[in-house]
Amino acid sequence: MSSDSAVRWCPHCRRLTQNALTAPPVYDASLGNDLAEASPRVARLKRYCASCGEIWESVEAPLSVLEEHLQLHSKLEEARRQLAMLRLLLARDRHFEEDDAVKTIPLRRAA
Ligand SMILES: [Zn+2]
Repeated sequence: MSSDSAVRWCPHCRRLTQNALTAPPVYDASLGNDLAEASPRVARLKRYCASCGEIWESVEAPLSVLEEHLQLHSKLEEARRQLAMLRLLLARDRHFEEDDAVKTIPLRRAA
């Protein structure tokens, strides 16, 4: 276990506790940006909570990386809302087209 020990938010205790690194940080560029920039900006860390004994993973990154992700997430949510609206409009149009098709079927007269 690494000697790097610090007070961190433990997701198991749900409070600040003393945590230690269990292994050297693993740098993971794919977590930082979808386009995986050449220089890694994000480190994946395994921590040991001295309070509850759980080992958990955390990510360490510059705030700008998190802000980028939040911005992208917001744009993704907006795109999903627009897609749902377009699907609804498309379904409505198809429904009206089907109604029109039924109305244009000529009625047969009984001979
Ligand atoms: Zn804990």
